[in-house]
Amino acid sequence: MAVLLFCAGLAPGATARAQEDCGPAAIAPQPGAAGARAQDYRAVFESCAKNGETRLATRRMSVDGEKLLLTVHPQTLKTSLEPASCWRCAETTDEEQAETRFMKAVRPPADPDRPPALVNAGLIHGEGAGAFITGDLCPSRKPLDRAFIEEVAAQGPGTPLALAVSGAWIAHHGQDFAWLQEKARSGALDITWADHTYSHPYVVGLKDSQNYMLRPGVDLDREIFETEKILIAHGETPSVFFRFPGLVADGALLEKLKERHLVALGADSWLALGPTPTAGSIVLVHPNGNEPAGLRIFSRLLRSGRMPKPFRAIEEAPWSALRKSGDGEAR
Ligand SMILES: [Zn+2]
Repeated sequence: MAVLLFCAGLAPGATARAQEDCGPAAIAPQPGAAGARAQDYRAVFESCAKNGETRLATRRMSVDGEKLLLTVHPQTLKTSLEPASCWRCAETTDEEQAETRFMKAVRPPADPDRPPALVNAGLIHGEGAGAFITGDLCPSRKPLDRAFIEEVAAQGPGTPLALAVSGAWIAHHGQDFAWLQEKARSGALDITWADHTYSHPYVVGLKDSQNYMLRPGVDLDREIFETEKILIAHGETPSVFFRFPGLVADGALLEKLKERHLVALGADSWLALGPTPTAGSIVLVHPNGNEPAGLRIFSRLLRSGRMPKPFRAIEEAPWSALRKSGDGEAR
């Protein structure tokens, strides 16, 4: 009997879905939903197959009683929630997946020109033309800067925008979050949700080496998973990107992040702090009401034509397997 249960696709009356139902899981948005809607949430690393397609599963969970996988496409880095019963999965390892674009993004080759910085670890510049616009939604008492979002959307239908959102921001900005979801649902924006921790630890006045995620007692797993869960509870799909609060991390945090199969997202153009974007820049602003200066600079650069265009999806920023080797890319 146990064998039949494990061969769900073959067992009459088992939970396997009909082939035509085997698209991505559609989770009905629930305004105000709590992360607890996603149960038995855990990190895995599995190679999954369905009809000749391959995905890598990084999380397993149960939502409204249905077993789901959070999967990533090994080349495009796009994520999707999939019904577990539709895929045949086997455990895999980083070594086995080392040649995928995904693993190269999670564990990028060491760059000898870059000092081991406490600040701004991770991906800080993308390939090619244009710019990668990223907005951090750290916890805030202020409303969303909707004018900035409209300005991005005015670039044309489906303009990509990466929002690094903290779970605590979602929990306290239900209407703003629903408004963002509507922008994506209507096709005005293509939003990628990066994880910006749940509680976003920060103490005014402490130096970086004792602040943010380096505060004593901070639990990286909890910060990662609780934000992923509240995104999923609202019907959204977490991406593979994670932004450290303050862009501050040490080697141990970075290694733990890689073990959770997330890509650290830095920035080389934090507009409020100065550096002007160039082609391929990862641009950082705060549309959470706390940094209007950066948004004003964004507007000014955009209007004067000094903001690199087009705006591109953050999934295109990491090293691309399509790029020829031997053209100067550090390996
Ligand atoms: Zn932040």
